[in-house]
Amino acid sequence: MVVMDTVQSSNSVPVSVFRCTTESYWKLERWSSSTDLPDDADILNHLICTTMSHPHPNPEVYERGRGMDAHNQVMREIRGEKDKQYDPNEPTRVWIDKDNTPDGVVTSLTIILNTGGCRWARAGGCTMCGYVAESVDGGSVDHDTVMNQIDVCLEHEATATDEPADLVKIYTSGSFLDEREISAESRIAIAETFADRNRIVVESLPDFVDHTKLTPFTDVGLATDVAIGVETATDRIRHDCVNKYFDFTDFQDACAEVCRVDTMTSEDIDVGAKAYLLLKPPFLTESEAVDDMVESVRRCADTDGCHTVSMNPTNVQRYTMVDELFDKGGYRPPWLWSVTEVLELTTDVDAIVVSDPVGHGSDRGPHNCGECDERVQTAIKDFNRRQNPSVFRQVECACETTWSYVLEAESSYAQPLIRWQCAFEDSERIDCMISSLSLLTASISMSQQRHTNHDQSAASEDLQRVSSYYR
Ligand code: SF4
Ligand SMILES: [Zn+2]
Repeated sequence: MVVMDTVQSSNSVPVSVFRCTTESYWKLERWSSSTDLPDDADILNHLICTTMSHPHPNPEVYERGRGMDAHNQVMREIRGEKDKQYDPNEPTRVWIDKDNTPDGVVTSLTIILNTGGCRWARAGGCTMCGYVAESVDGGSVDHDTVMNQIDVCLEHEATATDEPADLVKIYTSGSFLDEREISAESRIAIAETFADRNRIVVESLPDFVDHTKLTPFTDVGLATDVAIGVETATDRIRHDCVNKYFDFTDFQDACAEVCRVDTMTSEDIDVGAKAYLLLKPPFLTESEAVDDMVESVRRCADTDGCHTVSMNPTNVQRYTMVDELFDKGGYRPPWLWSVTEVLELTTDVDAIVVSDPVGHGSDRGPHNCGECDERVQTAIKDFNRRQNPSVFRQVECACETTWSYVLEAESSYAQPLIRWQCAFEDSERIDCMISSLSLLTASISMSQQRHTNHDQSAASEDLQRVSSYYR
């Protein structure tokens, strides 16, 4: 920790400001660039790690006018920079894929409807989520326009595949079950449109999960899953890193409501929940993120009604806090090795566990060294279908050593330890360290490990690369 300054608060208590985490340092930068340092000790929020009389901010101080309020204010500012307009008659996206479901691996039609967007995002919203930037201005889309989007999706499906997909997954840039986004009339019409399919997945925040909103699907014979973006089982991380307002108990309550619908319907129609988790929200180190995911997968899988856990590695989306952190060098998306690690460590849970690393291999998406990303992604896709961790044993790369080092050495006040890859003139790639000290330490450690593996030439290559980086 570095003491950055000592300021006098309004009640004359000297306050030491520490550079203690990426989050706090980033907040200080924002504040200090726009205004003088606040004169009220409370306003410093996370920044204040110690005062002479209060070793830690108390919970009340922590939440009042800050915490989520502060995150939301920043998120609103960032989102206000968006200027692109979208046609409400076109879905945001539509594609055909394969998915692992309780019925086995089936063809899926995934639809992202263009709506007025998530109401939580309009208040500010989650630190990593840029979906609201893709929604229609004005807050709502009428029934006919929603159904025009569905028609476009059906046309796409007809051209992309011979048979209608067994599984239909419908998302919005928010909550499908929020009637401000999708009216009851549209929900019922969509259920009828897809009544000939086997299974439907709709995504929603837990608040809107209610049996009356699910019965239109079960009434037409559709097995129905509600996907809930719970992100993590740890409330503190969900609140402070993701800026998502609800608690894990709300997720459990929503799953209980889903189970209730399941008992109300005939035995051959399944009703269940899918948990969406977020690997590596901002402000966590790589190892904290992995630990949190392993624990979260377990707790979600233990929740009645939750048959599938889908782990989404964070990618850097426009108009988000994560994007701003990324631009300032304060965030690196997770390693693909972290994804495989979590999948391997949770194979014993009683649920399907899958992951779809969007943007894999790019700097803004989950990535390794650039050489092995495609192979690791293929192994993850293979695991999604077969749930067999042996697929990961067939992929190796030297960068796994670097990743192990990051797990060991990255700390919250000096992250990301390693941010990106750079291509050198001779086309060789090397992981570039954000801080020179980290670079040296990590490389020496890598070299030592290789040395112990009797691969001295590789060790000396590493060191040559490091020194060429400094020249
Ligand atoms: S992650 Fe979900 S709840 Fe959070 S802002 Fe995005 S759509 Fe809204
Ligand atoms: Zn690699």
